[in-house]
Amino acid sequence: MHAESGSQTFRSFSEKVGRFKLKGKTFLIPQMNRIGGHLLAGTFRSFGINALVMDTYKGLDLGKEFTSGKECFPCQVTTGDILHHMQKEKERLGPSFDARNYIYFMPEAEGPCRFGMYNKHQRIVLDSFPGLENLKIGSLTSKNSYSLDGMLDRDQTRSFRKAGYFSVVVADVLDRLLWRIRPYEKERGMADEFIEKAMTVMADAFEAYGSSLGFERILDRLEEVILEGKALIDPAVPPKPMIGVVGEIYLRTHVESNQDVIRMIEKYGGEVVNASIAEWVNYTTYDRKREARIGLRLSLKQLRANKVKEHLRRMLGYGIDLAYQQMRQNQVYKRVRAHIDLAEDHRLDRLEKVLKEDDLYSFDVGTEACLSISGLLEYMRHGYNGALNIYPFTCMPSTITSSIVKPILNRMKVPYLDTPYDGSYQPGREASIRTFMFQAQQHFNKHGRRAESHS
Ligand code: SF4
Repeated sequence: MHAESGSQTFRSFSEKVGRFKLKGKTFLIPQMNRIGGHLLAGTFRSFGINALVMDTYKGLDLGKEFTSGKECFPCQVTTGDILHHMQKEKERLGPSFDARNYIYFMPEAEGPCRFGMYNKHQRIVLDSFPGLENLKIGSLTSKNSYSLDGMLDRDQTRSFRKAGYFSVVVADVLDRLLWRIRPYEKERGMADEFIEKAMTVMADAFEAYGSSLGFERILDRLEEVILEGKALIDPAVPPKPMIGVVGEIYLRTHVESNQDVIRMIEKYGGEVVNASIAEWVNYTTYDRKREARIGLRLSLKQLRANKVKEHLRRMLGYGIDLAYQQMRQNQVYKRVRAHIDLAEDHRLDRLEKVLKEDDLYSFDVGTEACLSISGLLEYMRHGYNGALNIYPFTCMPSTITSSIVKPILNRMKVPYLDTPYDGSYQPGREASIRTFMFQAQQHFNKHGRRAESHS
């Protein structure tokens, strides 16, 4: 592929980045957390959308070529993923290749971090390739808690939101299942092999029952998967130190980008719980509700009746969404935890309270630091033996997290490690993880570990 120079206009952003009808197109989902991507694709297929998960990390050279180096690492990875996929499609289809047949999924979040700019940057890059200027970027935003209006048929939107959220929670459970079994598996490699199959089984379940909201049927399948996975645990292996992971959502879940750091923790004797994806989705809903509440208070003070009504409506809407999400999440974890002790998510109101109690940070400032700082303190409250912060090199919210949490955990004498990534291999990384795990083992020997339930 050869890039062409050309003048970019803001029109391209407004016309080719946004919410577009997905029907009749191939919807390209980038891999962040692998299982989550596949379950979401299954859910889209259930609604008649031809969704597929793109390969990842194979186009990193392209990603690096078409970024300046000032971007966050996930921007380089995802830029490479889409360029690589398009290149392969061009080769496969030859002259019949037409970028108009695809929509590339790249959601965004509000600032102050740079994630909101990825799709703009990628728009500029795509526009510089002849033919790829016709590839539209389907973008959802955390500004409206990832509303799908305009992408699906009107009557499908609400159902999809419910099924899509359910797929996020089930994917979290499958990830946690892997991290729960792999350190204790009867034979090396069993857990990885099992989880690949489990992912396909559950993606098929979402394809079959997603659009009819057949959650009980999906949970029946999940229950079978859980029992099968549980049987891989060797009861003779004693419990291991618990390590809690927080950080930037992409890096902590994208195994290739973080150089499979969870596996390395396991190699040196740990068991890991990583912050979930549903926690972020719940956070965006929680935050919109919080903003509406603040707006309501202000407009009441200013006696602006119209604004009062508007904020009240938003508060109610997001409140209902959040209650629904928590209800579904409880439903899933209740079924699963009847069989295996997987950690549940932290509750958002609890996390906000943790920050307020010690005046450490504020939800008013926003970003993932809200979740990471409070999440780490919650891990400690639950008796974890160490904490890891995974993030792209220079990531602002994670650097804030590190600066606040590191001295606290030092005082608590709990091992803590920052692991920034930018695609390069750091020769000392494995040694630092090994040292960290040695300390976590000491902590475990002295304090043991408590129950993992988080709620
Ligand atoms: S959260 Fe971190 S990695 Fe993500 S866009 Fe912001 S600064 Fe970059």
